[in-house]
Amino acid sequence: MSGADGGRVVLRPAATLRCPMIPAVDHWVKSVVEPAARYHFGAGVSELTVAASYGCRPINHVRGAKLSEHGHANAIDISRFSLADGRVVAVKDGWWGDARERAFLRAVHRGACDTFTTVLGPLYDRNHRDHFHLDLAHHGRSGTNRVCR
Ligand SMILES: [Zn+2]
Repeated sequence: MSGADGGRVVLRPAATLRCPMIPAVDHWVKSVVEPAARYHFGAGVSELTVAASYGCRPINHVRGAKLSEHGHANAIDISRFSLADGRVVAVKDGWWGDARERAFLRAVHRGACDTFTTVLGPLYDRNHRDHFHLDLAHHGRSGTNRVCR
């Protein structure tokens, strides 16, 4: 996947994802990220920096841990949002950064929880201080629980 919202938003580098993730990312970009960027900064979003997508690895790269959703191509990590006016909002600096960046990043994080079943950000743990992890894993006995942290 190299673009979202009809190709207007570039994903860099291109992400390798299972088919169900593609409309999910597309929907999130179009219905959450784009409107939040316009609301908080008056500019659309032009590019998302993909920190990781498909990769055969255990959770948090810990040997012996369960295979990460990244190993199923069921997850994407986003570290930065580039706007059409040249502004770059990075999760690492912006989460605790200026008021607008904080508000934008929190809106984008919260909004992701409507689409993805797992959303992890800087409040979850140190491994996620510089990106949002989004996936479509099934949680709980019924497989319908959601994780939004
Ligand atoms: Zn991740």
